[in-house]
Amino acid sequence: MKDQNCIFCKIANGEIPSRTLYEDERYRVILDLGPATKGHALVLPKEHFANIYEIPAEWAAGAMEIGQKMAILMKERLHTDGANLVQNNGETAGQTVHHFHLHIIPRYKNDGQRILWKPGKATDEELDAIVSAMK
Ligand code: 5GP
Ligand code: ZN
Repeated sequence: MKDQNCIFCKIANGEIPSRTLYEDERYRVILDLGPATKGHALVLPKEHFANIYEIPAEWAAGAMEIGQKMAILMKERLHTDGANLVQNNGETAGQTVHHFHLHIIPRYKNDGQRILWKPGKATDEELDAIVSAMK
C-alpha cells in the first residue's frame, strides 16, 4: 500500500524525481538531500511501512540485502573506508520521515562525522533484569 501524503512513497514510486542509485520492483535507493558524507543514500521500500515495528520481516531483510550491495559498490566506486548502516524508528530515535528507510552512510578517513553513542554504565543486576524481561 502507498500513503498519498507520504513524500517517500512518492519518491520511491517515481512520482517525485530523485537521484536514484538502484531500483528494482520493491525498492529504490536514492541520494539523501542532506548528506552526512559523500554518497549518503537511503534504501526506500516502494510500499508504505512507517517503521521497523510495521514492516514485514521479509521487506526489512530485503532492505538490508540492498544496503550491503550498495556499501560494497561504494567501497569500489567511491573509495570509502567504511560505512554506517543506520535505521531510525520513532521521533525519540530521530526518525523525521515516517516511511521506513535504511541510511547507508559511507565513511572516509577524517570525514569529521560522528555517528556514535556515548557509552554508559550498567550494574550486573540491571543487565540481568533486562535478560529476564526479554525472555
Ligand atoms: P530520518 O531522520 O527520518 O532517519 O531520515 C530522513 C532523511 O531523509 C534525512 O537524512 C533527510 O536529509 C532525508 N530527506 C528528507 N526529505 C528528503 C527528500 O525530499 N529527498 C531526499 N533525497 N532526502 C530527503
Ligand atoms: Zn510512504
